[in-house]
Amino acid sequence: MAVSTEPMNDILSPFSKPDTADFKPLILIVDDSPTIRLSLSHALQDEFMPMEAVDGEQAWEFISSDSRIEVVITDLSMPRLDGLGLVKRMRDSVVMRVRNMPVIMVTGDDDAVAREASFMAGANDFVAKTSDRIELLARLRAHRKLAVTLRELEESQRELREQANTDPLTRLANRRFFSHIANKELSLMRRQKEYFAVLMMDIDHFKHTNDTFGHAAGDHVLVQVAQALLNNVREEDTLARVGGEEFVVSSPYTNRLAAIVLAERLRKAVESLEIQFEGNVIPVTISIGIAMQPQDGDSLDTLLAAADERLYIAKNAGRNRFCAASKHHDEQAVDVDMVCPKLDEAITMIRHGNLQRLMPHMPRLLEDLIPLFELANEKSPVHIDVDQVRETIIALKSRGGN
Ligand code: GH3
Ligand code: MG
Ligand code: MG
Repeated sequence: MAVSTEPMNDILSPFSKPDTADFKPLILIVDDSPTIRLSLSHALQDEFMPMEAVDGEQAWEFISSDSRIEVVITDLSMPRLDGLGLVKRMRDSVVMRVRNMPVIMVTGDDDAVAREASFMAGANDFVAKTSDRIELLARLRAHRKLAVTLRELEESQRELREQANTDPLTRLANRRFFSHIANKELSLMRRQKEYFAVLMMDIDHFKHTNDTFGHAAGDHVLVQVAQALLNNVREEDTLARVGGEEFVVSSPYTNRLAAIVLAERLRKAVESLEIQFEGNVIPVTISIGIAMQPQDGDSLDTLLAAADERLYIAKNAGRNRFCAASKHHDEQAVDVDMVCPKLDEAITMIRHGNLQRLMPHMPRLLEDLIPLFELANEKSPVHIDVDQVRETIIALKSRGGN
């Protein structure tokens, strides 16, 4: 989760269109009778743009794919999927736009049982087929207006939530949000007995950048550095701006070696930026301190303090470099490069481009996968040729892998 403040819900907002005189909200008319569809279309077309579906299934298709639809008016009994089925499906949708869309149910007569069933299923209103045009329009107008207001309220609540979690200049997570996420990740990693790395980063001689090129140039550098860092972390890492020119990244399932690879990649990415501002090219580098769970402790505060201490060492050693702990006592007994990484570590290494370290272990990693392939073959119609995998392993071993 590199930028952690995006909402989970669909945020396509058809309501952001201006409500000018010539704009008509799209209404979906669902009825198996062409006569009724036609008469409803006629009745509503002065204020709404009508679109028609012949049953609930077709309506569902349109609603799912066309985000311009704002209101649904549907018949109760229809073949394939009826009105109740349609509204239930909409209320269960994971898409907020669909879940909250106003649905008005139409039936042949003023039937109390049908009315109750419609409300229970999640319909917003109920009209008889005999309702006149004026009443129908008034109800539709009111429901649409309510939906627009609710949507706007949700949008502003989302914006507020986002503002509370985001640094306004770089759009990265802020310190508060970082602590929230990193603490959750850390407790999960502790439970799973997995590695967890924290990298503290600080721009070198940033005061000098401001003094030489001006504060606006400094702000521009901060945005560019943030973007470069973001482009070089994994989806599951959390990157934040935690101070003026200080950034931090937390990286779950990342052992000391993978953290070093990541730090070097981030350092290089920033060093190779060619930042232009008002005709000047502004050089920029960062220094990085790395701390690890479990080697350096298991609370976020302890890890951040250790990372900060190593950042200070990197600065004193000349800047534009990282500092990590020397090998842990567990690692010193063996050469870490000779230890076959676990599968998830291997995936991290591949993502970080650390193939050299991984290559000698490929046969072992493939061998680890064979029981999984065999299991998958029992369950899945897609067949993996395990014998061929074995042959590949033998060929790799004969080329020098273990
Ligand atoms: P070092 O290599 O030791 O980190 O030196 P430095 O100059 O980067 O460190 P120092 O802490 O002395 O200066 C940090 C500067 O960052 C001072 C401050 O004016 C500047 N700064 C902090 N926040 C912002 C900001 O939002 N925008 C800009 N343009 N500058 C900022
Ligand atoms: Mg600095
Ligand atoms: Mg600083």
